[in-house]
Amino acid sequence: MKRNKTWIVLLMLALSAVLVIAGCGNASTSKTANTESAAEQTETAAGTDKDAQASTDTDKEETEATSGASEISYTPLDQLQDQYDIIVIGGGGAGMTAALEAKAAGMNPVIFEKMPTAGGNTLKSSSGMNASETKFQKEQGIEDSNDKFYEETLKGGHDTNDKEMLRYFVDNSAGAIDWLDAHGITLDNLTITGGMSEKRTHRPTDGSAVGQYLVAGLVKNVQEQEIPLFVNANVKEITQENDTVSGVKVTFNGTDDKNISAKAVIVATGGFGANKEMIKEVRPDLDGYVTTNQEGSTGDGIKMIEALGGTTVDMDQIQVHPTVQQENSYLIGEAVRGEGAILVNADGQRFVNEMDTRDNVTAAITKLDGRAAYLIFDSGVKSRAKAVEQYEKMGFVKTGDSIEALADEMNLPAEQLQTTLGAWNEAVKNKKDADFNRETGMDNDLSAGPYYAIKIGPGIHYTMGGVKINTDTEVVTKDGKAIPGLFAAGEVTGGLHGQNRIGGNSVAEIVIFGREAGVKASEFAKANQ
Ligand code: ADP
Repeated sequence: MKRNKTWIVLLMLALSAVLVIAGCGNASTSKTANTESAAEQTETAAGTDKDAQASTDTDKEETEATSGASEISYTPLDQLQDQYDIIVIGGGGAGMTAALEAKAAGMNPVIFEKMPTAGGNTLKSSSGMNASETKFQKEQGIEDSNDKFYEETLKGGHDTNDKEMLRYFVDNSAGAIDWLDAHGITLDNLTITGGMSEKRTHRPTDGSAVGQYLVAGLVKNVQEQEIPLFVNANVKEITQENDTVSGVKVTFNGTDDKNISAKAVIVATGGFGANKEMIKEVRPDLDGYVTTNQEGSTGDGIKMIEALGGTTVDMDQIQVHPTVQQENSYLIGEAVRGEGAILVNADGQRFVNEMDTRDNVTAAITKLDGRAAYLIFDSGVKSRAKAVEQYEKMGFVKTGDSIEALADEMNLPAEQLQTTLGAWNEAVKNKKDADFNRETGMDNDLSAGPYYAIKIGPGIHYTMGGVKINTDTEVVTKDGKAIPGLFAAGEVTGGLHGQNRIGGNSVAEIVIFGREAGVKASEFAKANQ
């Protein structure tokens, strides 16, 4: 798929594990993947302020999955019905969560996913799921409060978050952790992300990336509950009768158009980070940027909802990640800098506090020729930041036994690079970076050869804006009126994060509001039998 083959590898790996366990309830279409081991590539943590950045060495664990052939199965087209109680558009984290709640409420839901596999961008998330006052925090002696979670998220979002949504979000976060646990998805390993003062980022027990584990767990439950999940099912339009949502128009396998009716529709189509045109429209300055998003993140849900009179918020709020390998749009995690790497320009000079916020580091790189910079590090960083091994396997890492050899390899001026590293090692020794006032990721100098470099540039990472919903996940019009029968949850919605998303809050959002969408759509469907 697209330029990033690793994406499908990750998906296959995550789902293969699940389906072996689940026994494939609805299965009969299948794919086989022969895979190399693959590591998580994307992080969701957003650096927000300086002290928060200190946590970057701990908040993004990277995992390795094992290799092997896998059998992946989805509901075959001949099982398609003309009518369901609830149609869920999008088979990512929010969609699968919503479908599970709808099923638990006694409904007959269906999931339509336009890509050949489920998982969406959810599968790529790594840092974890934020939640406060959880049983796991209590067990581990972490004193936290929903109010603190609220205040810190608001501060991280520069006070621009939708406050009602945020209140609902924090107050229901612990319940979402319990709900996942009850579904066999246990997030009991706690860490901290940028902008948070407590360990409230919940990860799988082994500290691995949350996305693969969460998607695997959700698919397993969807299969066990025998919820039909159709892939290659591209929803083109949401239909209405008498101003109430009545179903969807969906194209299967690119050719087969069908009208399917339902009493309620949940839009869980994710963001628009892979839609260059939409990005250009709202942020002309980001024209031409690569994206870390999966190719299905094209904002379809936003357009379909706008066609029904739904409104949007914060559409121009787009999180750009500063360190993305450009040829493969592959995200190079903040952990590399957190463990001590520096950034240099084509002249071999540092040009920014590498541990500044994402927006500031991005702005500094954007000013450079070709929007390109080089992460420079030594074997110490390589051994501490596990993900580097994966970057090496992907062919992104250049190496040299000496600084000079590395400079030659990278076409950087050797003398200047030596001077830069010398000055940096002095700064680490004196715990004072007079040039750029970096304060974190300075526990170790860069003196243990061999040396390494990765060429990077900024990439579109997450779209914070989207359609406006209320805390009942009803899609609302400009004047705040709910569109009957239309619900939405996840990255397709806007408002919760305001101008800056905190790492770990997107996964929390899809579970918390995905659940609510399933519950509320079911209530609506029952009331309108
Ligand atoms: P979230 O985190 O909000 O769940 P994801 O990106 O994980 O978002 O999942 C959204 C899913 O919706 C993706 O798998 C994407 O391919 C799918 N999707 C997007 N547009 C459509 C569409 N028109 N029809 C069906 N599925 C869609």
